[in-house]
Amino acid sequence: MESAESVVKAHIKSAGPMDVGQFMALALGHPKFGYYMTRDPLGARGDFTTAPEISQIFGEMVAVCMAEAWLRAGSPDAHLVELGPGRGTLMADILRATKGAPDFVNRVQVHLVETSPVLRAAQKAKLPNIKVTWHDSVETLPTDAPLLMVANEFFDALPMRQAIMTERGWHERVVGLDGDTLSFGSRASLLPLPPKPVGTIIEFAPAREAVMDSIAARFQKQGGLLLAMDYGHDLAGAIGDTFQAVRKHGFCPPLEHVGDADLTSHVDFARLAQVAESKGCAIYGPITQKVFLESLGIRERLNQFLANSPDATELVGGVERVTQDGGMGTLFKVMAVAGNVTFCPLKPAGFHSLS
Ligand code: SAH
Repeated sequence: MESAESVVKAHIKSAGPMDVGQFMALALGHPKFGYYMTRDPLGARGDFTTAPEISQIFGEMVAVCMAEAWLRAGSPDAHLVELGPGRGTLMADILRATKGAPDFVNRVQVHLVETSPVLRAAQKAKLPNIKVTWHDSVETLPTDAPLLMVANEFFDALPMRQAIMTERGWHERVVGLDGDTLSFGSRASLLPLPPKPVGTIIEFAPAREAVMDSIAARFQKQGGLLLAMDYGHDLAGAIGDTFQAVRKHGFCPPLEHVGDADLTSHVDFARLAQVAESKGCAIYGPITQKVFLESLGIRERLNQFLANSPDATELVGGVERVTQDGGMGTLFKVMAVAGNVTFCPLKPAGFHSLS
């Protein structure tokens, strides 16, 4: 029976081993068998959960940050864009939280960049009565007004590649076949990297950089703000293998359960920042998700809820989880990218702890 795994194997048999980025692209995004194309992976019955699914207050804080930036930019007509919106929960929370600011809701148009038909359907159901335009990529987003963008756990799902230092210099890590089993190998490759001890792995992600480059170029022309949240680090070209697969809320080896497990790697925020800066954008952060949410008043908002309905205990657990030290609160980082004179000089709310 055809499956993501059989597609990958057939590809290797005909064209030879593939780089880790090609493997990720096929396993996650193959139009018929790709992981994201065939399911809603979120929630208790899925494979993993995310901050917007854990706490509605997460989305409210994102809304505060974006609406505040928009106000300070002079309340322009704008496009409100989410990249990889999952079930549409974050966008629904942003729109609910900004209802009290009719100017904002009336002046923005909603755009969702999503490749999965299953998740597009979930987003449609979550956002009834909202005019939404869907896009396959950022390339088709409108060019006529500033872009207010948010991306939670989007960049980490885009393909990443790995360089590995061997006795014979830097090689690219590849996925090949050992008999009929998928296995990692390496092939000689011209990678302009400094020498490191044998076995060292360095990750790089041209696909992520290309998306950031495209967003930054847009920002310079039409203005905009991006809030990107991801499991990641702030050290350009950091060392180490962060390729991971998650299935049913636990880790599994990345070459097993092809098309049936989520594949991600840590986001190299420093590298993405360099790309955006080279296009003239301003960068804020990355800061930890905890600092971001607490500076925006997540605790005060929680207390407000509790004062009105003291038994809203699940809200307490949710806020604890998304701000937890050593957990989501510190492993997840938030970086803001702002472009052109309208948005550039404005440090977004939530980033005031930065000097
Ligand atoms: N932001 C959501 C979902 C995160 S999962 C949340 O926080 O709950 C990753 C999301 O990115 C899914 O919606 C997935 O379908 C989407 N996605 C993955 N690769 C994509 C690509 N190349 N282009 C657009 N969307 C993509």
